[in-house]
Amino acid sequence: MVHFMKNIKFSFYSLMLLGCVGSLVALNAQELHYLTADRMFDGERMLEGKAVIVQGNKIVSIVDKAAPIPQGAQVIAYRDATLLPGLIEGHAHLFLYPYNITDWDTQVLKETDALRTIRASVHARQTLLAGFTSVRDLGTEGAGYADVSLKKAILDKIIEGPRMLVAGRAIVSTGSYGPKGYDHDQKIMLGAEAADGNGLIQVVRDQIWQGADFIKIYADYRWGLMGEDQPTFTLDELKLIQEVTTSSGRVMVCHAKSKEAMRRAILAGAVTIEHGDFLDEETGKLMKEHGVIFMPTIAAVDKITQYRGWRKGIDADPENVIRKKKSFKAALASGVTIGMGGDVGVFPHGDNVMEMELMAEYGMPALEILKAATSVNAKAMNWQDKLGHIKAGYLADLVVVQGDPSKQIAQVRQVKMVMKDGVIYKKE
Ligand SMILES: [Zn+2]
Repeated sequence: MVHFMKNIKFSFYSLMLLGCVGSLVALNAQELHYLTADRMFDGERMLEGKAVIVQGNKIVSIVDKAAPIPQGAQVIAYRDATLLPGLIEGHAHLFLYPYNITDWDTQVLKETDALRTIRASVHARQTLLAGFTSVRDLGTEGAGYADVSLKKAILDKIIEGPRMLVAGRAIVSTGSYGPKGYDHDQKIMLGAEAADGNGLIQVVRDQIWQGADFIKIYADYRWGLMGEDQPTFTLDELKLIQEVTTSSGRVMVCHAKSKEAMRRAILAGAVTIEHGDFLDEETGKLMKEHGVIFMPTIAAVDKITQYRGWRKGIDADPENVIRKKKSFKAALASGVTIGMGGDVGVFPHGDNVMEMELMAEYGMPALEILKAATSVNAKAMNWQDKLGHIKAGYLADLVVVQGDPSKQIAQVRQVKMVMKDGVIYKKE
């Protein structure tokens, strides 16, 4: 109570002082928070008896609970709860929503970019309030570079949402991507930008100019004779994309399910491989050798199969689910670094935890899943020096969940508090 009173005085005098300067932002920069819970996951380990001191948008220090609370600090303390770094979604599509509501073709072809952007702004807020303070968005799927504007709207504080890295349109090879099955006399817009050969140079540079933070490539797609996943770009094309992309200080990330597309993506220098449905131990080891991070997107497969009629828990596992389980086991056995990316958008935004629950169901220990969604994903986004850890000097992205998620990963659903960049967006 004493600290609370001091805090009121601090805020009152600060407001008086700063009122003359006329800057509320300056007040936030001075704001001091003292956060604590029963335990704290720091991005690597679970610790007890710790508290975090935040000033402005930075974590200043981690202290023992026994140490005195700094004067003027706002105290945020939770019982039977865990303090976590802000969670990071590794594979999102904020411009999509579940296909059992509206199928992908209809979203891409019939909905205007304006409507889709309004939806995306709602999805952004749902994501943030679920404790995901950062998101890597893997393509608008037909909404152009609206993700670049969405990211700016969040940065400019026009709307509430997570910190974003965006892909823009993403790149596919001619003939491989959808929407498909329409009369070819009709010019149908694609869910991504088609380019091939030397034409890739111009497209990569244009995507960079339009605001892409990284280049997303479809290294394979369902365009085999029987509709199976087959490689799209040649190894040389992927190497060309990689060279142009990295020259600009950006990275290439690859959608790849087939073994051959994964092999090409790894050899070309992709930082992450998305999906990996046919991943085997050999491929996992090659990824490990090249320092590639694997984003499994288990939830996308699980949900799409259910949308097609699979009654999970009643019917036997269909072939694609059996394969997904097998590939995830192979990934675990190979020792490849596994991130957390669910392909959220296929399933509801704000329900990102579903991927973490499936990772647990498929055999990954809960503490490793917490790492995947924090420190590993921070590394995948090249943010390892500022996010994904609770460490002095890092950005103040902090989340409190009820209970102990290292015992039961579903506890990550019980979000009590969300702080992003030192600003509290949710507090129960
Ligand atoms: Zn995706």
